[in-house]
Amino acid sequence: GGSGGSGLKDTYTVASDTSFVPFEFKENGEYVGFDIDLINAIADEVGFEIKLETTNFDGIIPGLQTGSFDIALAGITITDERKKTVDFSDPYYDAGLRIGVSVDNKDINSIEDLKGKTVATRLGSTSADYIKKNIEGAEASQFEQLDQVYLAVENGSADAVLYDSPNVAYYIQTKGEDSLKMVGELYQAEQYGIAFAKGQDELVSKVNEALATLKENGKYDEIYEKWFGE
Ligand code: GLN
Repeated sequence: GGSGGSGLKDTYTVASDTSFVPFEFKENGEYVGFDIDLINAIADEVGFEIKLETTNFDGIIPGLQTGSFDIALAGITITDERKKTVDFSDPYYDAGLRIGVSVDNKDINSIEDLKGKTVATRLGSTSADYIKKNIEGAEASQFEQLDQVYLAVENGSADAVLYDSPNVAYYIQTKGEDSLKMVGELYQAEQYGIAFAKGQDELVSKVNEALATLKENGKYDEIYEKWFGE
């Protein structure tokens, strides 16, 4: 249906990650998660359809730049570096980085203890950057998929994982309780934003308006509660 003379399209291609619990992951053959619910609520509010495409995290920003995708949400941290190549919505989720180690590890209790260690993380992530810049002598063992990141710690090929706080927490809570534990504090506060291919200012402002509406009318809280409630 026409969008009443606005410059918006009827359908937007939305890229998401193949697996970043609990923001997007496959369950019974379908993509579910916080980001999926949020973008559907926003699309309803603004009045567009979405065509979801999932890809490895490190392919998302390049795909926005080449025009393969219009919009992306995948727990993408807003950074000044990324703002040079894509636009971001207002922040929609506060996160940060946390450490996970094997349940029987007694040596690693904070970021200082990661000096000179092998730290598993994901290719193209803010966490990979953090390890390279801030942890002296650490080797960042980088994988495309998060399953591989957690497996590296579980099988002992890495000493620890450093990754997004909600992801480490959710992974441990749902799958890793017997093998992994979270230690230390929140390192480097981050905020997630919806990313857009540049040149879609009208869409970005409509999405920001919708986000504000969903925060006011309780819909955002409902989605938050569904994925992060006790
Ligand atoms: N928030 C992290 C980043 O933007 C990683 C998100 C993810 O793995 N989907 O780098």
